[in-house]
Amino acid sequence: MNVSKKRILTGDRPTGKLHLGHYVGSLQNRVALQDKYACHFIIADLHTLTTKSEKVYLDELDRSIYNVVLDYLAVGIDPERSVIFLQSAVPETFELTLLLGNLVTLPRLTRLPSIKEMARAANMDDETVPFGLIGYPVLQAADILLPRAHLVPVGKDNEAHVEITREIARRFNRMYEVEVFPIPDVLIGEVPTLVGTDGQAKMSKSLGNAILLSDDAETVEQKVRTMYTDPNRIRADVPGRVEGNPVFIYHDAFNPDLGEVEDLKSRYRQGKVGDVEVKRKLASAINSFLEPIRERRATYASQPGLVEEILVEGSRKMQATARQTMDMVYAAMGLSGPRLRQVIHGEAVPFRLG
Ligand code: ATP
Ligand code: MG
Repeated sequence: MNVSKKRILTGDRPTGKLHLGHYVGSLQNRVALQDKYACHFIIADLHTLTTKSEKVYLDELDRSIYNVVLDYLAVGIDPERSVIFLQSAVPETFELTLLLGNLVTLPRLTRLPSIKEMARAANMDDETVPFGLIGYPVLQAADILLPRAHLVPVGKDNEAHVEITREIARRFNRMYEVEVFPIPDVLIGEVPTLVGTDGQAKMSKSLGNAILLSDDAETVEQKVRTMYTDPNRIRADVPGRVEGNPVFIYHDAFNPDLGEVEDLKSRYRQGKVGDVEVKRKLASAINSFLEPIRERRATYASQPGLVEEILVEGSRKMQATARQTMDMVYAAMGLSGPRLRQVIHGEAVPFRLG
């Protein structure tokens, strides 16, 4: 790790393949900041357990982990510069999560709309919601604080969680009177929350309203053809609404031809262009955007064992960093157990109580 650089931590739950929402919400910033920051990208498999811990899901987990790493590499995350690691391979995560759980109140967590939303989506109510899901932001705080990150590039839905991390970091530093943790800033993407193809507020892996970074050209055309637009526009000669229209939100996000987008918008407002043309041009823009991503994916996917090697190397680096942080944390707190542990493992460290 280059000590002179500030550090980034962010990542994704391996619950499926990544989509355009992930790109504009977070991946784009990650790719752009790889030189300026020491980047740590986490595949948060432990976070998936908070809503999906049945054996049937765990059987699919390895496949999802593989796909998320491949998505990272495909968009241009460079394993030579950035650390890509698996959360459950870093046991310090478990240690820090438990310690940080004492620095935030239960009501602060249970009041979070994002946790309520996740519980609802997983068909859980107040009686069935597990401790683990309530603790989701504490686990996330451990992820962010283990590399002592300065910046967290995420989508808008994650902003409140980073705020909790900031509160926990401040409380830790104040309580133990040493600046172990930088207070991490949040960096929201160019499109804070990308709408779904069905017009729902958020494109999401679990809602079936996503265009995947790994979709082929034909799938993109088909998904765009059936996209939600202005529901009041029943014919091409009826003036339509551009604002809040998912088709134009996507044009703004993915079509670099500003002249074409302006022309389509103005004709749409006047009732002088059909949805078919607007969508055909959108599918073509998205496909041009995805083409280099597809090429890079194919290159990485054609080398058996490479994805796994990258994950092993990244997890090795992250573990070394996490160990340093835990040493600082235990020293700040004055807990004896970790030193005793070192004695057990044969290290010549002094162990005295009191
Ligand atoms: P799940 O449905 O399993 O929760 P998800 O699609 O919400 O999956 P996450 O793994 O929870 O994805 O989120 C990973 C990152 O991508 C987070 O930083 C999140 O804010 C961002 N993100 C996810 N969906 C969108 C979206 N539609 N627009 C912008 N950012 C997004
Ligand atoms: Mg999510």
